Amino acid sequence: MSSHNLRVAICGGGISGLTLAVALSKHQTIAVDLYETRSRFEEIGAGVMIWSRTWRILELLGLGPQFRDRAHPQPNGSLGVGFDFRRSDQPTEGFSFCQFLTPVSKLFQCIRFHRAEFLEPLVNTLPAGVAHFGKQVASYSNVDADGPISIQFADGSSAICDVLVGCDGLKSCVRGQLFREEAHRRNDTALLDYVHPVWTGTIAYRGLIPVDEIPLNIDGSKHRTITTPMMYCGRSKHVVSYAISKGSTVNVVTFSSQPKKNGTMVAEPWVESCSQQELLDCYSQWEPEVVTLLENIKHPSRWAIHHLRPLPFFAANRIVLIGDAAHAMAPHQGAGAGQAIEVCYITTRDDAHIALRIFDDARRKDANEVLSGSYKSGVMYEFESGFGDRYDVLGPGIQSQWDWVLRTDPEDDSLRVVEEFRKATRGTGH
Ligand SMILES: Cc1cc2nc3c(=O)[nH]c(=O)nc-3n(C[C@H](O)[C@H](O)[C@H](O)COP(=O)(O)OP(=O)(O)OC[C@H]3O[C@@H](n4cnc5c(N)ncnc54)[C@H](O)[C@@H]3O)c2cc1C
Repeated sequence: MSSHNLRVAICGGGISGLTLAVALSKHQTIAVDLYETRSRFEEIGAGVMIWSRTWRILELLGLGPQFRDRAHPQPNGSLGVGFDFRRSDQPTEGFSFCQFLTPVSKLFQCIRFHRAEFLEPLVNTLPAGVAHFGKQVASYSNVDADGPISIQFADGSSAICDVLVGCDGLKSCVRGQLFREEAHRRNDTALLDYVHPVWTGTIAYRGLIPVDEIPLNIDGSKHRTITTPMMYCGRSKHVVSYAISKGSTVNVVTFSSQPKKNGTMVAEPWVESCSQQELLDCYSQWEPEVVTLLENIKHPSRWAIHHLRPLPFFAANRIVLIGDAAHAMAPHQGAGAGQAIEVCYITTRDDAHIALRIFDDARRKDANEVLSGSYKSGVMYEFESGFGDRYDVLGPGIQSQWDWVLRTDPEDDSLRVVEEFRKATRGTGH
């Protein structure tokens, strides 16, 4: 007989689905099945950064040593520049207007990874038999409030579970069905606004550059971004670059915004290859340091950056949304994946099936604040905020956007959830 008293099905095996599967698999009473539409776990060729809160959670999940092997720089609390913000939208040499040093406290450090390397510790830790590949969730039915949820796959097969977690990204089919059905059930058509993501008005170009392909400066020194994460800022545009993979590769993401288009729809495809010339043309009048980087991105990709309107709930009727399915955000604080990882830890600390009932209250406010804050950060980097380019107030303004990293500790948050859980279940026999 099975010792499991809860069956959790996870739809999607990106960073959020995998982290949740690893976290839940530690609970003997929970049976976990992860359904992924692709034939294996995979991530795009790009970088990802996390902050100290997320790092702490990876450690608490017992994954510290494996992630440490792949992290750049080593998360050891030593001092470094978090980001060097530079005015760069002129053909002459730019200047630095804000540098936040890490650690502002010892906990504030930006740790960078190649995305493929970020998945490895999670994949290595996932127990055998949890992942099911080639399984595209098409729909679910949970007509009976207490009975099992039935999942239908695109290949015609089906499965059952007690809780279905949509970790299926920006275009989440689980979110789509949940909000359509809740709109119908609550007779509230406003809920249909949350089915689809909206365009932020920003286009991004992405690329990776092997460090040894970046030319030396005229004085023989190395390009600044090899040692320092850079935020090159200009009117309505900015360029982010930082080293990953033990310093062997530089990750570059450039942004070009039309703020008035935020909240509108844009035609698909939202991600596609583009010519290097298109990228160079976009930043042709920028300082040489930026142009040198872009000249070394041979095969850029173009992304229409989308986010969600902050959702009014992340869970209903035992259907739960985590990661981009719940709070896809503009990437200007490097926080989307980190927020997903926070959710996976904070809501699985104790009896998960009970904690899920209070999950919505516990995480939605924080994640939605980061979602909105992340967009505002981008507006500041591009001199479009109320601070304009008054550097004396802009610098502190940019830095204060990250207060949430310092404000609390994930363990405290987790304990708060457990305490709320205890209060909620007092007298229920749990
Ligand atoms: C330019 C850019 C830079 C970013 N930089 C950072 C950063 O530095 N730090 C950070 O924290 N975040 C960053 N983010 C955000 C981060 O990439 C996302 O928040 C994160 O990858 C979301 O992970 P996820 O698992 O929720 O979704 P996804 O990565 O989209 O994974 C969803 C998975 O679900 C699968 N799937 C989809 N539909 C189905 C279905 N119907 N059935 C079964 N499987 C399905 C997909 O195949 C996929 O494997 C950035 C985003 C962008 C666009």
